[in-house]
Formats: sequence, structure tokens, C-alpha cells
Amino acid sequence: MAMTDEDLFGCIEAGGTKFVIGLVRRDHIVVDRLRLPTRGPAETIGDAVAWLERACGILGPVAAIGIASFGPVGLDRDRADWGHILATTKPGWRDADIAGPFLRAFGRPVGFDTDVNGAALAESLWGAGMGADVSVYVTVGTGIGGGAIVNGAPLHGLGHPEMGHAHPPRHPDDRRFAGICPFHGDCFEGLASGPAIAARWGVSLSELPDGHPAHDIIAYYLAQLTVSLSAIIAPRRIVMGGGVMATPGLIERVRIARAAICGGYFQGEGAGILVPPGLGADAGLFGAFALAIRARSSWP
Ligand code: ZN
Repeated sequence: MAMTDEDLFGCIEAGGTKFVIGLVRRDHIVVDRLRLPTRGPAETIGDAVAWLERACGILGPVAAIGIASFGPVGLDRDRADWGHILATTKPGWRDADIAGPFLRAFGRPVGFDTDVNGAALAESLWGAGMGADVSVYVTVGTGIGGGAIVNGAPLHGLGHPEMGHAHPPRHPDDRRFAGICPFHGDCFEGLASGPAIAARWGVSLSELPDGHPAHDIIAYYLAQLTVSLSAIIAPRRIVMGGGVMATPGLIERVRIARAAICGGYFQGEGAGILVPPGLGADAGLFGAFALAIRARSSWP
């Protein structure tokens, strides 16, 4: 069967440690993919563009390209830094242009966003956020990030949301820890990310016994985050992913802590407001795929 130029999408998951470049068919089949360790921007992006050009030479042209990138990134299309990495601490990557080389090489629409917004969009289209007009995806791992999807579009304004850097009230049994965020100390990320857990207790949450107080302390902070989200943007669903969220029993603890904090205030919310991700191992690549699909339909 011959593929038309509307069937294939170039998908780039641009991570701080690895890039995954995939050619994905409209029906979600990953036709081919490449994993690259992240080196400097010129080599890494150059190799990614060259691989995609070769793959397209064999399989056909792409309808659009999606890039889900580590951040912070420029998302304002009217600014010269659109598609660029901004003030990252990753050596060599500050001000790196990620979207430009793909735009110039392929001449097709390029959807560019954070990896978290890509994942949020993919979850809202095909995963655990499906059918919700407002949904949020939160990832709790080496950092805490979140993306909101409102009526099919990632929420942007002056930049992208930085939900992990808001501040929770302190848990009564956790007042002495200063938090590890280099910018804010005891923001959500500074208190409840994987490194913040390791800084207090020396191991990951899943390595601590079930009765250890860390479980309830971390659940309390994550519950506060979900309550803040509900108070501010009223999501129908909050998808909670990332390495820390994979801790057995954590999402149940967050639900219990949320109920205790809310006191039944938010009307009409079912038990299913906090859910685990619906997309599996390819979630990162499908984030980029979602951005490519969106670029195809909304590119100016
Ligand atoms: Zn912070």
C-alpha cells in the first residue's frame, strides 16, 4: 500500500539524556525509530535531522513534525526564541535552536512544546485524560512538572506553566527540611521530587517500608498540588505519572490526603479525578506525535 504524504509524522522526544526520533503512522504505528544519547546540540540535532531525512527517503514524506523537548523552551511564535531551549543549566544547550533545523530541512509544520505538555496532550487525546475538556498531566520524578490541556490545546501564556514550582503548606512532621529547589527551596519540586525524597531519607520512596512516614508526607504534598490545580483551573481529570508516582500505593494515599484536605468542597467530582497515565512505554514519543498531529491541523 502506497502511503500518501498525510500518513507519516516525524516525532522527536528531545530529552536531556537521550533523543528518540520516530516515524509514526497516522494510525499510531511506529514505523521506525532511533535512540541517540544527547550530546551537544549541533551533533545531536544534526544526527536526528539526517536520520529522519534518510527514513523519509525510504518511507515517504512527513505531513508534520512534533518535538517534545526538555525545557525551559520558547513557545511564543512571535518571538525569535520560539523553538529554542532557553536558560537551561545543561552545558552547551542554552539558546539552542531545536525546531529551526527541522523546519528548514523538511518545510513542513513543526509542533514544538515541552515534553510535559506533549505528554499532557497525548494523554488527553488517547490516554487517561480522554474526553475531558480540561485535564492536567503531572509528572513526579527527578523534578515535578505539569501541563494543562484546555479544549484540546496546551495552556500557554507567558511561557509554559511551572506547576512544580508553586509552594505547598508544610506538612506538620516535615517542617525542618529546607527543600532542594535551587530557586525556591521548599516548592513542590523542592519537597516531593525524587531527589528531595533521597535528600531526606537516603533512598527512593518505593524502597522505604510501607509504614514509613515519608509515604504520607509525600502524598500530602502531591495532594496539595492537586487541590491547588482544582482550585485554579478546575480540571476534570488529573493524570499523575513519573518515577515517584510508580511507588505502589502512592496514588491511593494521594486520593485519601486530597479528600481530607478538600473536605468535600469541590462539587461533582467522582473518585476518578486522580488517575495513572493511560499510555505506556512510548508515552514520550506519542507526546511528540500528538504535537505533530496538532501542528498539521493548526499550523498558520
Ligand atoms: Zn522551585
